[in-house]
Amino acid sequence: MNIDTFCRQLPKLELHAHLNGSLSRFTMLELQRYLADNGMADKSNVFLDEFQIGAGDTRNLSDCFQVFNIAHALTSTKKTLSMATALTIKEFEDDGCCYIELRSTPRTTPHMTMSEYVETIVQTMRKETADMTIISCLIISINRSSTHEDANIIADVAIEYHTKYPDTVVGIELSGNPAVGKFQNFLPALDRARKAGLKVTLHCGEICNQQEVIEMLNFKPDRIGHGVCIHPLFGGNDATWELLCKSQIPVEICLTSNVNTKSTQDYNSHHFKELYNAKVPVVICTDDKGVFATSLSQEYRICAETFGIEQSKLARLSLSACNYIFAEDKRKILSDTMLNFINKYEL
Ligand code: 5GP
Repeated sequence: MNIDTFCRQLPKLELHAHLNGSLSRFTMLELQRYLADNGMADKSNVFLDEFQIGAGDTRNLSDCFQVFNIAHALTSTKKTLSMATALTIKEFEDDGCCYIELRSTPRTTPHMTMSEYVETIVQTMRKETADMTIISCLIISINRSSTHEDANIIADVAIEYHTKYPDTVVGIELSGNPAVGKFQNFLPALDRARKAGLKVTLHCGEICNQQEVIEMLNFKPDRIGHGVCIHPLFGGNDATWELLCKSQIPVEICLTSNVNTKSTQDYNSHHFKELYNAKVPVVICTDDKGVFATSLSQEYRICAETFGIEQSKLARLSLSACNYIFAEDKRKILSDTMLNFINKYEL
């Protein structure tokens, strides 16, 4: 099977996808049309072309945080947030994804409270996408730019919804501009959520801050995102690298995101290689498939071609992701799906 077809057919798990960064152009146009038809047109159409950050773009990681405002303008009503959630999950399903942990930051908008924001996504996942074959769950995000008070409110909402819908709201995470805010300030909120049963993932080492990487790894999150500046070759040091290797904390790898935001020079010099060779658990993810114009199968293909990973190993990489999902009760059904594929194609 050629690598393109193989990567599309391979059952895949998406563990790092921000809802408002994952909106395709098609989805954004649908949302825009709905708002216009209902007398709520906004000015985001002017900026739609600025939403994507391609390979040769001059914008870097910190500029990339501006583009989310374009998506936020479109997902500020319950209806468009629900449409965005359903359309995005469907696109992942069409790309051969059998499980997704979509993440999103609860916002207060003129049309919704933070609770209603979460309620809308949860109900969409439980009702509107229920007839799809893909299993979808939600990770609640805390933005590093938010205040201590807002972080605590988000933790409260996450705990409330995890208690009501434990198989839908499965985790909490810290994201947003890594140059802003301190991990320590968010630790009490994250710790409280963890004690209430939510799994935790942290954006870690996106920029060089060895002290913060150590604090994060010592917190023992269930997974980390990116993990760029941990190996000494990429701005980490021996201490950060040894701590990661010893901890065996799975790393959510986002190849195109790191290249397009210039966190990594190019695919060939991506830290995936060091992590994979050192047997640190890794999961291939998209991060923001809308912003970076990618898909999960494309990320698998890039990984295979860049690092010379043959199809049987790629299938096992995808299978291994089952060990790191937050909805633990789904592990068996997902690994059976993967093993059926592996056996069918004698991989
Ligand atoms: P949302 O949470 O609104 O659904 O998705 C967009 C948000 O995800 C952004 O405002 C930002 O806080 C977070 N985000 C998306 N991509 C990245 C990334 O590559 N790095 C970090 N640190 N945060 C991101």
